[in-house]
Amino acid sequence: MKIGGFQKFSLIDYPGKISAVIFVQGCNFRCPYCHNRELVLPEYFSFSLQEEEIIEFLENRKGKIEGVVITGGEPTIFPDLPDLLLKIKRLGYYIKLDTNGSNPQMIKLLIERKLVDYIAMDVKAPLEKYRDVTFSAVDIEKIQESINIIKDSPIQHEFRTTVINGVHTYSDILKIYNLIKGSDRYVIQNFYPSENLVDKSFQTKTGFLKEELARIEKKFKNRFSSFFIRT
Ligand code: SF4
Repeated sequence: MKIGGFQKFSLIDYPGKISAVIFVQGCNFRCPYCHNRELVLPEYFSFSLQEEEIIEFLENRKGKIEGVVITGGEPTIFPDLPDLLLKIKRLGYYIKLDTNGSNPQMIKLLIERKLVDYIAMDVKAPLEKYRDVTFSAVDIEKIQESINIIKDSPIQHEFRTTVINGVHTYSDILKIYNLIKGSDRYVIQNFYPSENLVDKSFQTKTGFLKEELARIEKKFKNRFSSFFIRT
């Protein structure tokens, strides 16, 4: 597994828990609006961390940090992900996985082996628009499968969508709702441009307008136990 970053302390990445965050290097998608090009595009990879350094840090933080978030990049592309999570679990930490949902087999295995306590999956678009929105040859059956596995699992989870003006529409959000309905928590993240985008041409794009976000909130706030818009 390639690790491209490690944040020792976070109050926002694992709902309700103080956490550390591991950022893996490498992703099988090329979402143009992704803010993590240094974790996605190999030409921007600058350094990598050794797994042992992180495990040592976590050994010394027992009792001070409750959880570990593994994000990226895309963690599930690494066959040795379960090995790393097992080492972290043995130290007594809760684990949250952030995923693009492209590897349902891995997600299933992690749930079955009780190696994750929380999964956050990005649902990037309605299935028929997935390839256009992510600029990637996505197997949409796998996306559907991951959604079902996560939704039907007993573990805490959330689905989330980054919305971009001119890319997504209100009707897309209605279609995404049909994919994820029955789940507890849905988060809309309003896009903002930054210097680190995978595709620089997206620096001119913006998120949804306030009015559109208000319309979405009105429609969805009572359809999930927890629904919110991150701006
Ligand atoms: S947004 Fe996620 S899935 Fe898309 S390129 Fe970035 S890390 Fe990969």
